[in-house]
Order: sequence, then C-alpha cells, then structure tokens
Amino acid sequence: MKKLLPCIAVITLGAAIYYLGHSDGRSGNSLPLFLGTAIAQEGGGVVKPQSPVEPVEPRDVYHPGTEALAPDEMRITACGTGMPNARPKQAAACFLVELGNGDKFIFDIGTGSAERLSAMKIPYDYLDKVFIGHLHADHFGDLDALWIGGVLANRQRPLRVWGPSGSEDRLGTAHACKHMQEMFAWDYASRQGNVNTVGFKLEVNEFDYKKVNQVIYEENGVTIRTIPAIHALDGPVSFILDWNGLKFAFSSDTFPNKWWVEHTEGADLAIHECFIAPADLVNLQRWPVADALNVGTQVHTSPAQFGKVMSDIQPRMAVAYHFFNDFNTQPGVLELIRKTYDGPVSLAVDYMVWNVTKDEIRTRMAVGDEDVWPLPSITEKLPADPNDRVGFSDFVNGGKVPYTETVEKVYQSVNEEFGTNIPTPK
Ligand SMILES: [Zn+2]
Ligand SMILES: [Zn+2]
Repeated sequence: MKKLLPCIAVITLGAAIYYLGHSDGRSGNSLPLFLGTAIAQEGGGVVKPQSPVEPVEPRDVYHPGTEALAPDEMRITACGTGMPNARPKQAAACFLVELGNGDKFIFDIGTGSAERLSAMKIPYDYLDKVFIGHLHADHFGDLDALWIGGVLANRQRPLRVWGPSGSEDRLGTAHACKHMQEMFAWDYASRQGNVNTVGFKLEVNEFDYKKVNQVIYEENGVTIRTIPAIHALDGPVSFILDWNGLKFAFSSDTFPNKWWVEHTEGADLAIHECFIAPADLVNLQRWPVADALNVGTQVHTSPAQFGKVMSDIQPRMAVAYHFFNDFNTQPGVLELIRKTYDGPVSLAVDYMVWNVTKDEIRTRMAVGDEDVWPLPSITEKLPADPNDRVGFSDFVNGGKVPYTETVEKVYQSVNEEFGTNIPTPK
C-alpha cells in the first residue's frame, strides 16, 4: 500500500493538471497555483504553462501580412543584408520601411532582394518608391525584378526611383535607368498587347550627390534627405527619413564620414554598413591580406569603425549589415563592435524586423512563406491592348504546331468554369 500511494498521487495530480490545464485553456482563467506560478523571464516576459489542447503562446515572430501598423509606428524589414554574391540566407542590400500613415519605401534593392519584398505580402501598387544609395549591383541589382515584376502584378502607376548623380552623366542614376530600359527592350516589346504596360513607366529622380542634408522627398508628412557618402567613387549617398518625430537613417555603403556623424545623431534606427571583418575576408573568403585590409577598412566600414560611428551618433538602435552573418563570423564581429560601442545593436540578417515607436523598439524575425503568390492589385486589372502586339514573323509563325482540338477543349473547359465565352484564337 505504501508503495502504491506515490503512484496514485502522481496519477491524480496528472489528471488534475490535465483537467485544469484543459479547462483553463478554454476559459482563459489563470492556472491554479499548484501548477506553478508563471515563470518570470529575464526582461520581464512571463511563460505560462501550456494547455494540452489549445495553441501554445506564439513565439515572438512577425508573420507578414498579419499585423496592423499603429498610426505612430514604423516597421523596418531587412530584405537584404549580405554581399554582392547573394546567397539563400542573405540577399544583397535592401531595407523596406513601412509607416503607420500607409507609406512604404524601399532603400536599396540589391541582387536577390525582390523575392524578400514579395514575401512581405504587400500588393505591388504600394511598392512604388525606391531610393538607391549608389549604383553597385548589390544595391540596385534587383531594380529590374521589382520594376517588371510590378508590371506583371498589375502595378498601375510608374515605379518611382530616386538616386544620386555621378561625377559625370554616364555615372548617374538617370543614365543607369535609361539604359536598364534599353536593356529590357525585348521584354517590353514581348509584353505589349499581352499585358497592360502602364506600370512599365519609370519616374527617375536624380539628385546632386554632393548636396548636404538636401530634401529629395516631401510628401504626406514624410521628409527624406540625403547626405554624401564616401565609397569607391564619387556618387554614393546616405538617406535620412523623418516622419512623425521618428528618424530613420540608412548609410547604404560608406566609409565613416562627418556628414553621417553630424546629421544622424540620435536616430531612432540607424542602419550602417559593417563590412566583413578583415580577418574573415582572409580566412573565409580567401582574400590576400592587403586586399582584405584595403576593402575592409578603406572602401567599407569595418566592425570596429562601425562601433566608433555608433558611439558618435548614439542611436536608439544601431543596425549593422553587409557581412555574412554566420555562426563563425557573428561572435567576432560583435567583439570588434564592442571594443568601440556599448549601446543597443542588431546584427542584421534577412527577415529581421524592427517595430519602432517613441516608446519602444521591438526586434523580431519575420517568418517567410515560400509559397507566397504576388498579392492581387488594389485596383482592377487593366486590360492589355491587342493593337499594341508586336507579333511574330511569318518564319516563326510558320513553325507553330497548333494542336487545335486540344486548345479548343482548354478554352471550352475554362469558359465553362468561369461562365465566359472567349473564342479560341484562329
Ligand atoms: Zn557599394
Ligand atoms: Zn555594398
């Protein structure tokens, strides 16, 4: 009997826990004391014991498309934090800024970042403002993907692009965009008559890269300014966005410079490049030491220099990007930053999200949905104009094997499914 008692006690307790946990999950009442008072976590969070049948408390992650932005809130999502060699984990530079007033801005749009933007489940109509800090491929290499992707996703307005001039015309943003359009001449011609092409228009706003703290955008309570950046060649700039008493600063690429220090002081979120540490460039990227030191500290900002920059401007949150952020690089990068800066810092990786209000900065990871489809347009899809169609030569037309009966059946079945009466082309 003595041996049985503890056993019965355990079963009884287990049943009680099950029952109470179960009923608690449904009623939302607090759990009985004997289940253990909630466990206080470092940082003030509380973990409640979970019901065996109700959903567990969600991890603190961001599921794109599921959260309203408060009217005074800014949400920044890292859509590219890596290097010119884009990789599955990190596309090249791109940050999406969403404001509680409904405005959305893209800062840099490096190689591979367009798919991250699409993972945010935002209709392309809203992704129509791109600010390019400089014309390295890892900072604007996916402009074409957003531009033409937007056309196919029915963006019914021009894509608006802001970017710096260069020391000569051929090195400026207007030249780059004009020739991007030239490069896609076949793409454009091929779509004429098949899709509406209004979204193919580009509105390019090139501004003087040398002007300090110049306003390049002022709409709907949002001001965006530029300051010169020092990187590789004349032309690069950094951006400062002010809205609703919040300041967002994005360096794009730059060597530490006086304009940044002067104009981004006290920013709420300050994103500055923090390049791969020189020793990692040698050990992991197999670069010669001299190249690693030159590129890592002179063309770019190394982690230790990044720390100095942030110590000077004291942001509410410093964000370091532009390095392969891995298990074997992150500790070293942080150690180098900590030699010169002891404030709040995020070591960015793709899909990191910051929600910024005057009271709080909340840092989380977004959970992407790889099966995402482009969201339907907010406006009715405009029809294509068949008169625009360029069409095939007789030579290519003469090569068609039409499978007429099969295609007629496709038309018939789809017409039946959707109640339409679209004739099979002759
Ligand atoms: Zn660059
Ligand atoms: Zn870069």
